[in-house]
Amino acid sequence: IKKVGVLTSGGDSPGMNAAIRSVVRTCAYHNIECVGIYRGYQGMIEGDFKEMGPRSVNNIINKGGTILKSARSKEFMSAEGRKKAFEHLKKEGIDGVVVIGGDGSFTGALVFNKEFGMPVMGIPGTIDNDIFGTSHTLGYDTALNTVVECIDKIRDTASSHNRLFFVEVMGRDAGHIALNAGIGAGAEEILIPEEDLGLDRLLESLEKSRNSGKSSSIVVVAEGDKMGKSVFELKDYIEEHLPEYDIRVSVLGHMQRGGAPSCFDRVLASRLGVKAVESLMEGKSNYMVGLIQDEVTLTPLEQAIKGHYPIDTELLRVSDIMST
Ligand code: ATP
Repeated sequence: IKKVGVLTSGGDSPGMNAAIRSVVRTCAYHNIECVGIYRGYQGMIEGDFKEMGPRSVNNIINKGGTILKSARSKEFMSAEGRKKAFEHLKKEGIDGVVVIGGDGSFTGALVFNKEFGMPVMGIPGTIDNDIFGTSHTLGYDTALNTVVECIDKIRDTASSHNRLFFVEVMGRDAGHIALNAGIGAGAEEILIPEEDLGLDRLLESLEKSRNSGKSSSIVVVAEGDKMGKSVFELKDYIEEHLPEYDIRVSVLGHMQRGGAPSCFDRVLASRLGVKAVESLMEGKSNYMVGLIQDEVTLTPLEQAIKGHYPIDTELLRVSDIMST
């Protein structure tokens, strides 16, 4: 391999910059050229490239977002768009691409590899932790810490006013953030897409919590909660059935995707970047680098995009016991 292209695609996540830095510096270490591709696949189609050396990534390990910008590219979904992208890569002499993104970005990378034989490696960058083949995606740990910090603050006001708060967190298909941050912040109940708690159980649990003398209650709800109700509908439902509760809703939203990456995410990004570049150097392609039992491993992209990293059901039990 002579020249590696690196891009960030799909939703951004804290740690993407640290991963870019790692890819760029691993290339420099091995005397391989490196090119930053701006705005994900859209920049590939438009030839929006910049040569990158070890000094182009100074002081970014601690920054949220992505210096290469991210985008969703409709044009890359068409064969014509991908052909344009390939022509630009060929002209630039790029003979391997590292894609930092989620499962959609990996699907695009696979299609591209099948059509043009361009070697590709994926680095999982998404806060949801919903990708098979890694116990941690880049940004997940930072998002957990952000959510816990927010809920701690909500708890202060909730207990001063004896209130019940519904806090919505990100996670359309996966409840990892809700479950782990919920336990970390001492939530009374956690609603996730993987398990249907049922409205009756929720009512029962809130009643119990009130009767046990708790001064506040926090219910953490993942966006994709299985009961199919929005946080606002849940609020209305509980208000109707437990009118004595003073209820508020807080939707944490995009702040969960921002901020300086945690130390864990910085180290993870550094490890994954090294493995991605060195795997390309070994002639490997169509893999995602990930972390399994603290070992950096390769998972075929085909598998990574199909599966989900499963929820640890023991955590549900821990959460139940903790809300006693
Ligand atoms: P997130 O998890 O944050 O949503 P993602 O990587 O899954 O990140 P997507 O928007 O699903 O984000 O995908 C990013 C880009 O990947 C798309 O905008 C598109 O350019 C490309 N892509 C996705 N699916 C395909 C596909 N089937 N064929 C070609 N390109 C694709």
